[in-house]
Amino acid sequence: MHTDALSNFWSTTLDERPASRPRLTAHVQADVVIVGAGFTGLWTAYYLKRLAPERAIVVLEAERVGHGASGRNGGWVVGNLAGLERHIGDLPLAERQTCCGVVADNVDEVGRVLAFEGIEADFNKGGAIYAAARYRDQIAIQRDYLQHLHELGHSEANCYWLDAEQLSEKARFRNGYGGIYHRQVATLNPVKLVTGLAECVERLGVTIYEQSRAETLAHHKVSTREGSVESPMVVCATEGYADRFLDFKRHVIPVQSLVIATEPLSEARWQEIGMAERPAFADASRLINYGHRTADGRIVFGARGTYYLGARSKADQAIDDGAIRMRRDLLVDLLPALEGVRVEYGWGGSLGLSRNFRPHAILDRASGLATAGGYAGEGVAASHLFGRTLAEMILARDTERVRMPWAFNDASHRQLIKRWEVEPLRWLAAQAITYSYAGEEALMRRDRPAPLLKPALRRLNDRFASIIE
Ligand SMILES: Cc1cc2nc3c(=O)[nH]c(=O)nc-3n(C[C@H](O)[C@H](O)[C@H](O)COP(=O)(O)OP(=O)(O)OC[C@H]3O[C@@H](n4cnc5c(N)ncnc54)[C@H](O)[C@@H]3O)c2cc1C
Repeated sequence: MHTDALSNFWSTTLDERPASRPRLTAHVQADVVIVGAGFTGLWTAYYLKRLAPERAIVVLEAERVGHGASGRNGGWVVGNLAGLERHIGDLPLAERQTCCGVVADNVDEVGRVLAFEGIEADFNKGGAIYAAARYRDQIAIQRDYLQHLHELGHSEANCYWLDAEQLSEKARFRNGYGGIYHRQVATLNPVKLVTGLAECVERLGVTIYEQSRAETLAHHKVSTREGSVESPMVVCATEGYADRFLDFKRHVIPVQSLVIATEPLSEARWQEIGMAERPAFADASRLINYGHRTADGRIVFGARGTYYLGARSKADQAIDDGAIRMRRDLLVDLLPALEGVRVEYGWGGSLGLSRNFRPHAILDRASGLATAGGYAGEGVAASHLFGRTLAEMILARDTERVRMPWAFNDASHRQLIKRWEVEPLRWLAAQAITYSYAGEEALMRRDRPAPLLKPALRRLNDRFASIIE
């Protein structure tokens, strides 16, 4: 393998490293204090300031802006929510369609606000291909998924089937049997977004402190080692990085995801691969993979990582050779034109998974505490929608968003989100599920009939999925 992978590709794309911001070293007051300067915290700050410019908003970040998943992700901006069916599955079709419309339109809203604020983050709405691209069993899996999307309320205009020929016009995979095309998906450079958004909210008057880790979230007061912020409203926007806050970590745990970036590909290689519109792509695998063609002609490609015993989040970005090799092999398996490609970057981070697999925006007015997260790996678009929703709930605005089933007014996260099981049960279950998913994947790849084993393993894994979800 040709690799000398060096950390996070996105960080290398900035013209200059942003200047560091001051630490909080005093006792200050604010109308809203937000803990965490990732997308959720910054979008909440952005909409609070846009809707109520007179409010004093303070953001506290333990490290630097974008230290968490927002500075490390795969850059998909998805017009869906992971776990949406759990929020809307029991609603009548017309209401489900409205909810799906809100999450689908959210992608265009992200593009619109970036253009309006002049935030250059390589936003590109090229749609997403969910392909059956390696083995035949994936055709049925993707067909089922498309049916699920339509039954849920996603429109046929936004999500539709590509046959093998239509698929090959968009992208040429090893075995391009067909796949779903989802129009409401864009991609972007997350470090450019989080950096540009932080600068934007500062221009609007928000104060951001870096290297200012909140030690406690007491009633209406957040304390750091050297200072504190008193405020009637505290927003916890730490998603997969809530290490200090056991009260949140019991409900939303960190799960790792690991990413690689190839060298820039030659024009000849792109001719072979296609992807002229720079779509996002994934294939049907329980190991969850996601990729896209970057603005400078690389492929950024990720796959689900591990769960650390004790729900530790991934502070560093390091990824070992084995993890790089696994992702590279999977990528070459999908796109044989990449044989011999050099992997130049590899990194990882933690995303947040709630026990009932539902992303949420929660405002507990009685205790003055709000939070959003649990996006389960689909947080780039969701954090925009949920940050906006939190801002509207805090300001008591009556909008379509605050009436969505994932927005909870006057409730506590303790009541709404189940607690995760205690260790080592969580870790043992995660290991068992990972092995079982890998077993199913290996069996599918053999592309030979296994009339008893394949369906049995699939049923077992469906069962696993339904237990954890
Ligand atoms: C490798 C990877 C790939 C992903 N790919 C995609 C993708 O392609 N598409 C997609 O939609 N989603 C993806 N995700 C998920 C998505 O990135 C996250 O859901 C989203 O960025 C979460 O944003 P956030 O602001 O809620 O949390 P984060 O960005 O994690 O920010 C939390 C912040 O809180 C800070 N913090 C924590 N504790 C404290 C404290 N005590 N005091 C002060 N600050 C604190 C942290 O330092 C951090 O900066 C991916 C995630 C990972 C890890």
